[in-house]
Amino acid sequence: MYTVLIAEDESDIRELISFNLERESMDTLLAKDGAEAFEIAKEKGPDLIILDLMLPKMDGFTVFKELRLDSRTKDIPVIMLTAKAQLDDVITGLEMGADDYLTKPFSPKELVLRVKALLRRIRTTPANSIINSGKFRLDKNSLHCFVSGEQIDLTPTEFKLLILMVEREGTVQNREDLLREVWGYRDTANSRTLDTHIKRLREKLGDLSRCIETVRGVGYQYRNIA
Ligand code: CA
Repeated sequence: MYTVLIAEDESDIRELISFNLERESMDTLLAKDGAEAFEIAKEKGPDLIILDLMLPKMDGFTVFKELRLDSRTKDIPVIMLTAKAQLDDVITGLEMGADDYLTKPFSPKELVLRVKALLRRIRTTPANSIINSGKFRLDKNSLHCFVSGEQIDLTPTEFKLLILMVEREGTVQNREDLLREVWGYRDTANSRTLDTHIKRLREKLGDLSRCIETVRGVGYQYRNIA
């Protein structure tokens, strides 16, 4: 059973999210300000955090930075909520390493889909848990990524995105499919989530970033050019 922390000061929205997730057999923890959210996250170690950016006491960005600095919380997927379509906030959040975002008002159904997609682990049997491709070695059970034997620190979401492309080497993955499979999007218009994650992934991969090619107007593909 998964536990989701909901950090939102507006009680109506907090209750709405909680209701919809509990209906899907998830446990929820509720925080009404940023300081409380950070404390609960450290103490309870939820599987995912839904983080409103406009929070009293400690704003969402500050909470997020603190979460990423603490070893107990640094790998917990975070979906940010923004008050309106504030693109600057969204991009800042994604560049800081948030896994996804939703702008208010959002459909609870969409939120549930996104939550489920981020919680979905890569299921595999031990026999085929290791993928080797060029200088890459990817372990689907531990979610560890090695390049030439050195571990690269990827978030679970970044790992999922990378392995999906590596496993379909040489085939163009269109944006819609990637957003649906990794993040659970139904409607992918204008999402900045994918491009920001690709950017972060490339930064982390350094020289090997050229393995991920942009296919203009379509999506991305992995090429084993190492
Ligand atoms: Ca708020």
